[in-house]
Amino acid sequence: MDLVRETKINNLKALEQKAKACTNCGLRAGCRGVVFGEGNLNSPVMFVGEGPGQTEDELGRPFVGKAGQLLDKILLAAELPRETVYITNIVKCRPPGNRTPNMQEMQTCLPWLRQQFTVMRPRFMVLLGLAASHGIIDPNLKMGPNHGQWFERGNTLIMPTYHPAAILRNPSLRKPAWEDFQKISRAVKEWAH
Ligand code: SF4
Repeated sequence: MDLVRETKINNLKALEQKAKACTNCGLRAGCRGVVFGEGNLNSPVMFVGEGPGQTEDELGRPFVGKAGQLLDKILLAAELPRETVYITNIVKCRPPGNRTPNMQEMQTCLPWLRQQFTVMRPRFMVLLGLAASHGIIDPNLKMGPNHGQWFERGNTLIMPTYHPAAILRNPSLRKPAWEDFQKISRAVKEWAH
């Protein structure tokens, strides 16, 4: 294993241990544990969802429920298999009843995501759903006109797109979401060449 990869793994493991002890917001009191994130640390792309749901809270892994299964399928079809990317959420603890995390909870949890980002330095960040998009790009962002657009922040390109749970609820979002994932796939391939 090369030194850069080994250092990343060690840094992220240390960060995960610290995050697991976090009680910085009220969400920790209502969940089983902190769901930190997982995936390929050397990936140029990081996916950020809203927060763990019931299955994620039970298993301690992000995007493993029904929405996660759909995400896996979309990633595979876009030639970005799950094991090649990194996946996490803007809040690491399950909000009660799977409600949307509020802005204060997202802001309180953001330092963990920032530190994950600092370790990985991904070229692309994909925000799955409005909550992550509001917390990271702009609290007034609307998904309809803004999904699929790249927002440049330093050396990183950030794209908001539909959360797979929203696609499950509303199948008419399949097409625009798929177009976004094709765009992400093209960008990652171009970056790799
Ligand atoms: S949601 Fe984030 S800030 Fe709140 S307790 Fe969990 S890890 Fe800490």
